[in-house]
Amino acid sequence: MKGKLLVVGFGPGSFEHITKRAEDAIKESDCIIGYKTYVDLIRGLLTHQEVISTGMSEEVSRAQAAVRLAEEGKVVAVISSGDAGVYGMAGLIYEVLIEKGWTEEKGVEVEVIPGISAINSCASLLGAPVMHDACTISLSDHLTPWKIIEKRIDAAGQADFVIALYNPKSGKRTRQITEAQRILLQYRSPNTPVGLVKSAYRDSQHVVITTLEKMLDHDIGMLTTVVIGNSSTFLYDNKLITPRGYQRKYTLDTAEQRLKPHERLRRENEPWALHEGKEEQTVEKAINVDSPLDLAMEALIKLDGPNKSTDDQPMNPMHEKVESIFELAVSPGVANKRITPKQMLAIAEVVGERGTMEYTPHHQIILRIPTEDPSDITSKLQETGLLLSPTGDVFQLKACDFCDGEKSDPIPYAEEIQQKLGGLELPKELRLGFNGCGMACYGAVNEDIGVVYRKGKFDLFLGGKVVGRTAHPAQAVAEGIPPEEIVGVIDTIIQEYKEKGHPNERFFKYFKRVREVQGYQHRDIAPVIELEPAPCGD
Ligand code: SF4
Repeated sequence: MKGKLLVVGFGPGSFEHITKRAEDAIKESDCIIGYKTYVDLIRGLLTHQEVISTGMSEEVSRAQAAVRLAEEGKVVAVISSGDAGVYGMAGLIYEVLIEKGWTEEKGVEVEVIPGISAINSCASLLGAPVMHDACTISLSDHLTPWKIIEKRIDAAGQADFVIALYNPKSGKRTRQITEAQRILLQYRSPNTPVGLVKSAYRDSQHVVITTLEKMLDHDIGMLTTVVIGNSSTFLYDNKLITPRGYQRKYTLDTAEQRLKPHERLRRENEPWALHEGKEEQTVEKAINVDSPLDLAMEALIKLDGPNKSTDDQPMNPMHEKVESIFELAVSPGVANKRITPKQMLAIAEVVGERGTMEYTPHHQIILRIPTEDPSDITSKLQETGLLLSPTGDVFQLKACDFCDGEKSDPIPYAEEIQQKLGGLELPKELRLGFNGCGMACYGAVNEDIGVVYRKGKFDLFLGGKVVGRTAHPAQAVAEGIPPEEIVGVIDTIIQEYKEKGHPNERFFKYFKRVREVQGYQHRDIAPVIELEPAPCGD
């Protein structure tokens, strides 16, 4: 049975502004997948649906989970606020499907359901600012290099677009909105009307009318959309109004229009337009601004540089090579905890002046290096014998040093597990603690999975939570596993979690939810007291 993917934009967040189709789609689905805050906004519409909600920045795992569940035959609603196709989930869903060879004919059915995007909902609260050519620019440089965003702001400013800035500011991203203001002041009057709309149509809605010069005096945050007028936008009774045309062809104070309907499209009454592919010689004199074509070309040249376009190679605003940050973890080895001067020098060389290195509590150093050639970096590090691992939601093995290698019997098993599973992508990062004797002095029994070597065999612990106010050790689930079985036991547990864990679900939560992993039973431990959730998570 084929499932279905419903990619739903539910608008600003109030039930009055959800479209009928979006509401029906949510109701008819078996499963809802979305960012936690969005799920809470539509929770009142849910009846029987399974809910998978994850945190911000986990869009890829949400899209992958949605595709997997639809392929299993479920009707899955992937929800975004605003419009699913405007900074929403629609594109990512298609990217994940394409990666898997999906076609419309043979793959799961996909329906993208439009919603009201912030540019529209915010405009309606501000008056009528988006009555002319407009654009949206996200100031978030998490996925887009700031250099590109800067060029887009510059081009939009120069081409006199009404601009809606999405994601203008957050905790750490505070300079972007200041830079955007600086660029736009090169092209627009400081008195250009600006509307700041926070949480349109939600309980905490807040609207401020200000100017380009003064907008930073007001509170701007992650939930604010900044709408900046064009050179014609004016303020009237606290409303932003953008006229329909630059040079008015209409009069508002007479019942009779200067131009009769049949005269309105004549070339002499539109000196700024392209007529049969040619613009009038007098355009600039007639209306005293550049033609739309000039403005568009200037904007493109700004993006591309003046000499980059040829007949064979048309302009491509994204032609610039974008440098990526390569992130990886290095350690001297599974059991070995001693780093050599040669290894330190190799690390320093590849990190250079522009990279960073961070020592972690997990016996690893995380390197972040701007580069277009990660293979050069990995080969230099591997030449010195360093063990390299990917970071993020992957399998990590954290072994003790086996008393400086003196208790060496279990080391080959730890190395085999690392070789087989190290770096394997999982629903959430997972650490396996592997200790070489019953002292377990490196804390294996507190990790997601703990393995302790004792009297020639292995004890197994599942579902630890190592940090937070609700931290707890893992449960002892087996004693005396023969050495020749331990790698297979760990492998099957990890494969089950990889396949059945929800995106972003930690292993201890998975164990608690499913109650049994590969025959090992979860036991409830009576809570001493219930703790209030901490705002920063626990
Ligand atoms: S856990 Fe045991 S083998 Fe490993 S370092 Fe500690 S005492 Fe040594």
